[in-house]
Amino acid sequence: MGASAFRISFLSWLNRMVTLQPATVTVPDLRINAERMRADFETLSQIGETPEGGVQRLALSSEDLLARAWFADRIEEAGLILHDDDAGNLSGILASKNPTAKTLLVGSHLDTVPNGGRYDGAIGVLAALECARTIREAGIELPVHLEVIDFTDDEGCWRSLFGVRALAGMLTPEDINDARNDNGPFRAALVRAGIEPRNVFRAGRDPQTLMGYLELHIEQSERLERSGTTIGVVTGIVGRSNYRITFHGQAAHSGSTEMSRRRDALAGAALFITRAHELTRERFAEGIFNCGNVEVEPGAFNVVPSLARAKIQLRHVNTRLLREMEAAMFELAEACAVANSLTIEIEHMGGTEAADMCPEVIDLIETTCTRLGLSHQRLISYSGHAAQITSNLIPSGMIFIPSVDGISHNPREFSRWEDVVSGAQVLLHTILAWAQRAG
Ligand SMILES: [Zn+2]
Repeated sequence: MGASAFRISFLSWLNRMVTLQPATVTVPDLRINAERMRADFETLSQIGETPEGGVQRLALSSEDLLARAWFADRIEEAGLILHDDDAGNLSGILASKNPTAKTLLVGSHLDTVPNGGRYDGAIGVLAALECARTIREAGIELPVHLEVIDFTDDEGCWRSLFGVRALAGMLTPEDINDARNDNGPFRAALVRAGIEPRNVFRAGRDPQTLMGYLELHIEQSERLERSGTTIGVVTGIVGRSNYRITFHGQAAHSGSTEMSRRRDALAGAALFITRAHELTRERFAEGIFNCGNVEVEPGAFNVVPSLARAKIQLRHVNTRLLREMEAAMFELAEACAVANSLTIEIEHMGGTEAADMCPEVIDLIETTCTRLGLSHQRLISYSGHAAQITSNLIPSGMIFIPSVDGISHNPREFSRWEDVVSGAQVLLHTILAWAQRAG
């Protein structure tokens, strides 16, 4: 070899090394099998299908159990290891050759709300399954165990985010106590599904054995569609606080009591609700206020209301601002009560804390989108998801795809199939990139 030939081959070697350098942290050009995932989606959509074209698979119902049985068959057919824990979370595991490897959890939920849609939860589980199948068929050996998971009762038919809270070791005896609230005999439903209520606490996993959690989900609002963006990279999930605010006044004759002398509880509540909407828009741009119900007593044409009980919910992605919102609402309720000569009573009715997604995982998803040539934007999630629980323990991330017209929890829920496929591609390559970091 002449000197110049050597120099050319050395330069091309050097060039390859330079270009190969990133290749050690990038991944093969792999594609999921979109037709197979579509066939799965069509079959799953028939389990619990409703006349309006939606799906109803309430957690632990016959339809949910049928969907799980179908999913278990797909797991075994794909050559994954079938696993279910004491809280009924159902998994398919693509095991690493390294038995001490950590586990990367990827999934969502197969249960739905009453009269729900076909995409919420389902596409996250099916895409995770399709990613595991694709990786296995390509003969790629991951340095982590990949666990595709369907969480029990994500939608809260019985207990909101039950399965993932069990996995996170966050369940309390209260959670399986039927007397806790009015949503029925939960224990009996667990038993019927083959889950022993006293054992659900055993489903807790040691965070040291887990690498992280990743979920693909529909956006459920219309920000992505409006901006023409394919992928939403979730930065955080809003916290939620529920309150019951009761305005107490005095019942009186509706005709003979002067307008200026009334202690009208409903007038106070109505003023509060209107001002609370304004306050949220003006002071808490990313916050949400909702009043979902007002009970009025005594509730007659000819009696000034003596009581108005408003059920309100506040949401914010920033915990500090959620607390500020709460304080501002209490102050407002007090002022509206005073203006109408009323007294108020405020009861906290539960809620969830806001959750931040892991910054490294956010970067990883964004890098993956860029590499795949898909448009992306950062988003807050205004709906609750398993990742808000897992993020307390392990690095967590979420990928959103557009919901047409933002419609969800509705039979008309729809996402374009090409977006589902793009989301699954991002999921696949984020899994591969993340798993490589363990190697
Ligand atoms: Zn969901």
